Amino acid sequence: MSNHDVTGILGKAVAGTRITPEEGLALLERGELNELGRAALAVRERLHPERVATFIIDRNVNYTNACVADCDFCNFYRRPNESDVYVLPRELLYRKIDELVAIGGTQVLMQGGHHPYLTLEWYEELLRDMRARYPKLQIHAFSPSEFTFFSKIFKKPVRELIARFKAAGLDSIPGGGGEILVDRVRKIIAPKKAMSGEWLEVYRQAHAEGLRGSCTMVIGHYETLPERIEHLERLRQLQDETGGLDGVFVAFIVWTMQMKGTRLDGKVPPAGSTEYLRMNAVARLYLDNIRNIQSSWVTQGAKVGQMSFLYGCNDWGGLMMEENVVSQAGTVHHVQIDQMRALSEELGLTLRQRNFHYELIDAAPAAAPAATA
Ligand code: SF4
Repeated sequence: MSNHDVTGILGKAVAGTRITPEEGLALLERGELNELGRAALAVRERLHPERVATFIIDRNVNYTNACVADCDFCNFYRRPNESDVYVLPRELLYRKIDELVAIGGTQVLMQGGHHPYLTLEWYEELLRDMRARYPKLQIHAFSPSEFTFFSKIFKKPVRELIARFKAAGLDSIPGGGGEILVDRVRKIIAPKKAMSGEWLEVYRQAHAEGLRGSCTMVIGHYETLPERIEHLERLRQLQDETGGLDGVFVAFIVWTMQMKGTRLDGKVPPAGSTEYLRMNAVARLYLDNIRNIQSSWVTQGAKVGQMSFLYGCNDWGGLMMEENVVSQAGTVHHVQIDQMRALSEELGLTLRQRNFHYELIDAAPAAAPAATA
C-alpha cells in the first residue's frame, strides 16, 4: 500500500465510512502524524460539532491493594500477607467521598486488587452502604478483571454477580485491566488476570444487565502494531453487538505504559508522546461506533493532553484528586479546572462539566471562546 492509499483511507474515515483492520494497520504503520491528526480532528468535529471540551469531577478510590494477580507492570499491589496491605476502612472511604461531593464531584471510580479473602457479602454491603449514604453518586466500580476474578472465587456466573452488584448500588463498570486484548500479550504481562475473551464477556453481560462502561488500551510494552489493531477491532465488534454508538462503551481511553519501578522497567522501550498521539488519532478513526475519547493528561501532562484534542479527543476525563493535599483539595481542583479551561479555550473549545453519561451538568457560560484551532 502506498502513501496515496493512506490518504484514501483517511478520506474514507473522515467521510464516515468504516475502515478495515488492514486499513487501520496501514495508518498505524505509515500514516504521517499531522495527517492522522487532521483526519482525527475532522472526525471529532463531526461527532462533536458543539465545540465543547468536557470533564468530570470524580475520585479514584482503591478499596484494597491486596492482589494475587502479580501483573508485571504494577507498583501498587501487595501480596495478601505483606505488612502494608490495606482494605480501606469505611470511615476513610466516606471521608474521601465527602470531599469529592464537597467540590461538586458526581462519580467515584472504585477499583482494587484481586483480594483473595473478601467475601461476596462484603462487596454487596459496601455497595449498599455507599448507595444509602450517597443516593445520587455514580458508583463506577470493579473492572472486568475484578469481575472475572470474583466469578472464579465466588463460583458464580459473571452475569449473576453483575445483577447482584447492580441491585446493591453499582451504576457502571470502568475499563481497567484492558491493556491489550490479545492473549499472547496478556500471557506475558499479566498471565493470572482475565484473558481477552473474559474481559469482553464481562461487558457483554453488563450490557445484558443494562449497565455501561468505558474501554481502555495501554500501549508501549510487548504489543505489536497488528495487535493494537486487533484490540481496537475487538472493542468495535462488541460495541456493534451491543448497539453501536449507544452500545456498552461510553468512551475509550488510551494511555502509555508507566513502567518506572516495575518489573517491566528497562525491558521494553516506553512509548512517547508522539506514539500516544498517533494511537489516539488512529483510534478515533477506527472506533466509529464509540462516541467519546478521553485525553490521558494524567500520564501525558497538560500540554500533550491539550494536543490530544487535535488528535481526536473530546474529553479531559476526571480531575486528579490528590490524596496528600486533602486540606487544600478545593483549591487544588480550582487550579486544575482553570488550567483545563485555559487549555481548552486556546483550542476554541468551551470547558463544560459532564456526568458519566456525558450529559452537561453545569450552567452554560455566557459566551463561547473564539476559535483559534
Ligand atoms: S490486577 Fe491490578 S492490582 Fe493486581 S497486580 Fe494487576 S494491575 Fe496490580
